[in-house]
Amino acid sequence: MAEDEPPGASLKPLVFRVDETTPEVVQSVLLERGWSKFDQQERNMEDWNLYWRTSSFRMAEHANVKPWQCLNHHPGTTRLTRKDLLAKHLRHMERLYGAPLYEFLPPTFVMPSDYSKFVAEYFKEKQALDAKLSYWICKPAELSRGRGIIIFSDIKNLIFADTCIIQKYICNPLLVGRYKCDLRVYVCVTGFKPLTIYIYQEGLVRFATEKFDLGNLQNSYAHLTNSSINRSGASYEKIKEVVGSGCKWTLSRFFSYLRSWDVDDLLLWQKINRVVILTVLAIAPSVPFAANCFELLGFDILIDDNLKPWLLEVNYSPGLSLDCSADVSVKRRLIHDTIELMHLHSLRNDRKESCSAANGSPGVSLARKDRGQGRDLPHESFSQPGSRRAFSKDGTPGEKGVTACPENQHTCQPRAVLSRQEVRPPTREPPKAKPKARARHPALKTLIPRVSLIQARGREKGLSLCVQPDSSWVPGPQAGNFVLIFPFNEATFGASRNGLNVRRIIQELQKLTHKQCSQAAEEKTKRK
Ligand code: ADP
Repeated sequence: MAEDEPPGASLKPLVFRVDETTPEVVQSVLLERGWSKFDQQERNMEDWNLYWRTSSFRMAEHANVKPWQCLNHHPGTTRLTRKDLLAKHLRHMERLYGAPLYEFLPPTFVMPSDYSKFVAEYFKEKQALDAKLSYWICKPAELSRGRGIIIFSDIKNLIFADTCIIQKYICNPLLVGRYKCDLRVYVCVTGFKPLTIYIYQEGLVRFATEKFDLGNLQNSYAHLTNSSINRSGASYEKIKEVVGSGCKWTLSRFFSYLRSWDVDDLLLWQKINRVVILTVLAIAPSVPFAANCFELLGFDILIDDNLKPWLLEVNYSPGLSLDCSADVSVKRRLIHDTIELMHLHSLRNDRKESCSAANGSPGVSLARKDRGQGRDLPHESFSQPGSRRAFSKDGTPGEKGVTACPENQHTCQPRAVLSRQEVRPPTREPPKAKPKARARHPALKTLIPRVSLIQARGREKGLSLCVQPDSSWVPGPQAGNFVLIFPFNEATFGASRNGLNVRRIIQELQKLTHKQCSQAAEEKTKRK
C-alpha cells in the first residue's frame, strides 16, 4: 500500500458483477481502477458492489439490492427510450404545459394507432406546400442502429409492419462540409426521487459518410448518421470535406468548429441542457422509486441550420464499443467519470447514514476502495464535490487531471482555448461570417464553452450549491466531466424534494431560458 494512503484505504477492493452483455470497456475501466470481478464460485452471492449490464433488472432485483450494492439501470426508464413511449410522454407534457415547450420533438405519429391522424397531416401539408415535397421518416419503435428505417416523401412508399413511429424528417440539418451529423449527448440520472440529472460535457458527433441529398432518400449513408451503418460504407475511410476520414468527432471538436464560425456554442449547449431536463421531467413523476441505481442515457440530438436542437431519440445502454479514436477518448473517460459519480452518491448516502446515527447499516459502502483514473486515489477523487479535471490543449479531458479543489471553486473548470481545426465554409446558409481566429466569448466563457446552468448560477451568486439553505446535502455539481444540470437553483431544488412540482420547475426553466437568451442577445449587440 502506498505510504500516503488515507485511513480506510486498506479495505477490500470493490467488486463488479457482469453478464455476457456488459461492455468490454466497462470491465477494463473497473479493473484499471482496482476493482475485482465477481466470481460466483469464490464469493458469497451478495458480495458485489456494482452490477453493470445492458438489459434492465427485474423489480425483484431492485427490491433485493443491498445498501452496499448499485445497479446501472433504474426501473421505468424505457418510457424514455422506446421511441413510441417517448413520443407519448412528451405529447402528454405538451397537453399539460403547452405545445411550444416541447417543440424540440419533431411532429411524431405512433403507428398504427395514429395512422388516420398522420394521413390527415400528410395531405394537409402536401396542400400547404403546393408543389414542394414534404419529408417523413418511419422508425421501428423498438429497433436501434438505424435498422428498419425508411425515409419517404410519397405516402405510397410507406410500409410498416410492427409498432413504429412516423416523424417529420428534419430536412434542413446543419451540415459540416455538406455532411449531415447528429450529437450523442450522455446524461446520467442518478435518481428520480428526488430528480437528479447530470450531463456529460464531452460526447460524440456522428456523421453520415455521403453528401446530404434530398434527391435520393434511399441512400442511408447520406441520411442516417448511425456509425453502425456508416462504418460499412465505401466512403468511411475516405478523407471527406471538413469531416476528414471516419464518421465521428468528439463534441469538443464540433463546438470548436462552430465557434470558429462565430456560432454561440454556449447558447446552443444551454438549449440542449433544456431539452434534456424537459425530456427527463416527462417521465420523472411516473417512474417507481428505486434505491442504489443510476441510468446512463444517450440523447441523440440533431441540430438544424437555424441552430435549433431536435431530439431524435433517447438510447438505453448507449453503445460503448471502441471503434475509433474518438470513441476511445470519450467512452473510457465516460466510464471513469460515471464511476466517480457513483462514488459521489455513495458518499452522500454514507453522510446521510452517519447523520441518522447508526441505523444498523453494515457500514459497507461503495467507497471501499477505488484507485480512480489509474492512480492510487482511493477517496480523494470523489470526496470533493468540486473535483475538477485538467484539460488538454484540444479541450478534451486530460488523462490524469483529477485534482481536488475547494468547494467554492467548483465553477472554475479551466478549458484551454481549443485549437482551431482546418475550417472551410459550411454549406448551411447562416452564418456567413468568415471563420474567426479566436473564440468570441468573453474570457471566462471562452474557457468554459459549455458551462452548465448550475455552474452559471453558482458563479453569479458566488456561492457553492453543495450545501442548500435547508442544510440537506445534494451531490456536488461536478464529477469528472459530469455536471449537475438538475436541480439548477434553490427553487428547483425545493420543487423536487417532497414530490415533484413540475409546474414550478417549468416556470423556473422558462425564467432561466429567458435570461440566457437575453444575455446571448446582449453579448451579440456588444460585439457588433
Ligand atoms: P435508431 O434507434 O435506429 O438509431 P434514430 O431515431 O436514432 O433510430 O434514427 C437513426 C438516424 O436517422 C439518426 O441518427 C438520424 O441521422 C436519422 N434521423 C432520425 N430521425 C430523424 C428525423 N426526424 N429527421 C432527420 N433525421 C433523422
